[in-house]
Amino acid sequence: MDWLKQWIWYNGNFLGIEWSIWKIVGWLGNAVFFSRFFIQWYATERKKQVVVPSAFWWLSLSGSLLLLVYSLRQRDSVFIFAYAFTWIPYIRNLMIHHQHKEAHTGCPACGRSCPPTANYCAACGNRLQRDAGIAAAQ
Ligand SMILES: [Zn+2]
Repeated sequence: MDWLKQWIWYNGNFLGIEWSIWKIVGWLGNAVFFSRFFIQWYATERKKQVVVPSAFWWLSLSGSLLLLVYSLRQRDSVFIFAYAFTWIPYIRNLMIHHQHKEAHTGCPACGRSCPPTANYCAACGNRLQRDAGIAAAQ
């Protein structure tokens, strides 16, 4: 067990890392960014189909911003470039996610959220109201 103790407390530092507030910011960024994989994996396993929940994009955005702040502090151009533009697809995906969610219709019978293209509720088979509106206009 001495090898484990030596690995955890190497040269008098936890994991041999010289800790500072910036190291905490950087490691927090790594933890947040890495956690998105578990969120996406969990959502996919739960639905038994590939799912990318909005939490994945929020974790991507916040983790990469923490890593960008850390890389700016370190003045590491390679690291800065790696995280300088990643927020663009993350924010765009969050915008599309929001627009898609807004376009959904709530089923008046069971309350389930139904996709914009659905004419009937997948859960209870109830005809959706937007169809009734179109039918009334014709
Ligand atoms: Zn329904």
